[in-house]
Amino acid sequence: MRSVSDHLAAIVARLTALPPLRLPLLEAAGTVLAEEVRSPVDLPPFDNSAMDGYAVRAADLAALPVTLPVVADIPAGSVATTGVTPGTAARIMTGAPLPEGADTVVQVEWTDGGVREVRIDRAPPLGTSIRRAGGDVRRGDVVLAEGVRLGAAQLGIAASAGRAELLVRPRPRVVVLSTGDELRVPGTPLEPGQIWDSNSFMLAAAVAEAGGVALRRSFVGDDPAKVRAVLDEQLEHADAVITTGGVSMGAYDVVKEVLSGGGEVEFSKVAMRPGKPQGFGLLGGRVPLFTLPGNPVSAYVSFQVFVRPALRYLQGLAPEGLPAVTAVTESALTSPAGLQHYLRASLTFEDGRYRVSPASAQDSHQMRALANSSGLIVLPADVTELPAGGEAEVLRLPS
Ligand code: AMP
Ligand code: MG
Repeated sequence: MRSVSDHLAAIVARLTALPPLRLPLLEAAGTVLAEEVRSPVDLPPFDNSAMDGYAVRAADLAALPVTLPVVADIPAGSVATTGVTPGTAARIMTGAPLPEGADTVVQVEWTDGGVREVRIDRAPPLGTSIRRAGGDVRRGDVVLAEGVRLGAAQLGIAASAGRAELLVRPRPRVVVLSTGDELRVPGTPLEPGQIWDSNSFMLAAAVAEAGGVALRRSFVGDDPAKVRAVLDEQLEHADAVITTGGVSMGAYDVVKEVLSGGGEVEFSKVAMRPGKPQGFGLLGGRVPLFTLPGNPVSAYVSFQVFVRPALRYLQGLAPEGLPAVTAVTESALTSPAGLQHYLRASLTFEDGRYRVSPASAQDSHQMRALANSSGLIVLPADVTELPAGGEAEVLRLPS
């Protein structure tokens, strides 16, 4: 049997990050930056007012109150033609360029708000309420490093730096396909022996959580010719394909049957629970294909442990799994020797430390326990028991 880390390493070794492409700013939301972004100008580009008020010379405010003639009115977006000379003031709005000669802005609340002349009642220190050119970013400075995920704030600074497009690694388009004659679409009635397909919905959502675009291809029955045909169709548009079901030791394990032959996919037993039967290969010699086990919890754990890191790698990121924390276990845990065990659990933070409590249901078909868990306790292959109060690594499930 292969270890979890060896299996992941074997997968990553066969992946290539998606080629970068240029996208308009908003379309780049959620993608990973594939260039360094620098500002072509100082930000702010010019000295400007941080307040609505009056641009003055601080020396004129020595004796208060003082009344000064207003020689200019400067809204944001315009530039004063008259400077502030000794004994004068200019009315100025937030974001408007500071006029020549002024060294301080008095906020309007400290004045009578006059238009022709203004009475100033309080004097702020020299330089107050002026945002200096380059006070945020200097021309030529890096504002975003390569490899950052572009969230709202990152798009904000890119726009502030004048960028209409960014070079990014696109979201991987991931086809999710369930296999099984027993499957039906939720919302349609069940005949005896049938169940609703949960894997394709669950994994489509997991793909989105990992930064991909899911193309849910519903399900295909346990018919080898059909499975082969559906897989081949995906070559046209998929950056990766995930199947579930049909990879264990049964008589109708269609995915294994169809893909074993040409060596396209390598089927391995990985030393983990749940999720022992795994397969990975390049469909058509090109598109990463993950054949995950059918039991929903096995499929989910396999996704988080193998597919999530792989999707990150396709996006130019480190092939990491879910973030982990160290937690104190509330009860004693046992685990089979030789298998890395993932236990559904509830993770809480109390009195400065994480605590974790395993769910009582741990079979790989028991989805309710997964849906109500916030963490996965990881017990490495060489650990067979952990006493209550012991420390364990816990993967945080996306919330
Ligand atoms: P298999 O690996 O195809 O033998 O499936 C293992 C178990 O997972 C069986 O109980 C299947 O009915 C169940 N299963 C397989 N695919 C799905 C699916 N898409 N949704 C829910 N359960 C599934
Ligand atoms: Mg099946």
